[in-house]
Amino acid sequence: MPTPGLDGYAPPWLKPEHDDLAELARDFFTDQVLPHAERLERQGHPDREHYRRAGELGLLGLSVPEEYGGGGGDFTHEAVLLHEQTMCGEGSLGLAVHSGIVTGYLRHYGTEEQKRRWLPGLCDGDLVGAIAMTEPGGGSDLQAIRTRAVRDGDDYVVTGSKTFITNGALADLLILAVKTDTSQGASGISLLVCEIGDDTPGFQRGRLIDKIGLHANDTAELFFDEMRVPVTHLLGGAENEGSGFFQMMAQLPQERLVIGVGAVAAMQRAVELAVAYAKERTAFGKPLIAHQNTRMVLAECATRTRASRIFLDDCIARHSRGELDVPTAAMAKLWLTEGQCEVVDKCLQIFGGYGYTTEYPIARMYADARVQKIYGGTNEIMKELIARVL
Ligand SMILES: Cc1cc2nc3c(=O)[nH]c(=O)nc-3n(C[C@H](O)[C@H](O)[C@H](O)COP(=O)(O)OP(=O)(O)OC[C@H]3O[C@@H](n4cnc5c(N)ncnc54)[C@H](O)[C@@H]3O)c2cc1C
Repeated sequence: MPTPGLDGYAPPWLKPEHDDLAELARDFFTDQVLPHAERLERQGHPDREHYRRAGELGLLGLSVPEEYGGGGGDFTHEAVLLHEQTMCGEGSLGLAVHSGIVTGYLRHYGTEEQKRRWLPGLCDGDLVGAIAMTEPGGGSDLQAIRTRAVRDGDDYVVTGSKTFITNGALADLLILAVKTDTSQGASGISLLVCEIGDDTPGFQRGRLIDKIGLHANDTAELFFDEMRVPVTHLLGGAENEGSGFFQMMAQLPQERLVIGVGAVAAMQRAVELAVAYAKERTAFGKPLIAHQNTRMVLAECATRTRASRIFLDDCIARHSRGELDVPTAAMAKLWLTEGQCEVVDKCLQIFGGYGYTTEYPIARMYADARVQKIYGGTNEIMKELIARVL
């Protein structure tokens, strides 16, 4: 059923295969993951088994070439999967990071050997992926990271810490931003692909971070005390030492688009839920939707959602052509996440007191939305990136 206000609209990039994928994803989230939602929220992380199941169904690594075990699609397929996950209200699996970001780094920069070593495991769900840039001392100023990797024979020896790492409790494969040259800013940064496990010497997972939302997805601190990583695990191979910052800058537009996909899906879901509630709930002898203020608010939310959807689809189409530039991706992240928070807040209001109770999905959506303005580069940093080209 189309979202109210989006009737008759279809993304220009949509093909019949996307509909089949959407149905498969919807069935997986609804039948296999959502029945466990309360338990997953209590445990604070997804079930590893659900990654494996997603892998078996071909839902992981949709944009990874088939020769590496992926779906052979492109970003549009990842977008459909992430859209359905949010529309279903599934928030445990860190697919945005695992498939939307980590596989992208390996695909773009990995050597042939690196792709063959890690992509199949990420695509079949045997490996859970994460990316660690942010440190306790700061996340916005990436050039100032302090985790260092010192060359010692055929290894790097890594010391430092990272925080707020999505999928951090389960991750087996970590793309880790380190300084290989501490005398340099951006050009001293490299990305190491680290195989991590609870018995990896020099590696420790910290506590699960207690957040106001996204309760079923793990966000963790990670500590490195002389952890050894083979030099062959430098992303892109040894000749790329020091190019990590530029690799991150090139991949961040996709990360921001992934966030935008979640933002628009959340707006669509909020409008659907609020319209349905406004039709069923009565006050002063008539349904809420018959009251002028409710009608006006829902009209505003539906309009904002439709305009957001069109902007997002334009960005997805640009990205599929390899034309999504940094300021446009920043505009998308900024405007779509601001819109998400605004629309979800207005829709919550329509639920009255029930909107403040966790029994109602809109309450969880409100808490989950807030971080969208923070991660992937804060919205203040997005404005900075946009302003630079004005
Ligand atoms: C749930 C969650 C999941 C996350 N997942 C990941 C992950 O998987 N991997 C990862 O690496 N990180 C992750 N992060 C971290 C996130 O990307 C950072 O929190 C974010 O980049 C901001 O960094 P910070 O928290 O250190 O804030 P700071 O950089 O300390 O910024 C604090 C405030 O100052 C503002 N500010 C900073 N610089 C400027 C400036 N130049 N001009 C104007 N204002 C400025 C910021 O906008 C912000 O409002 C996650 C965070 C959360 C909460």
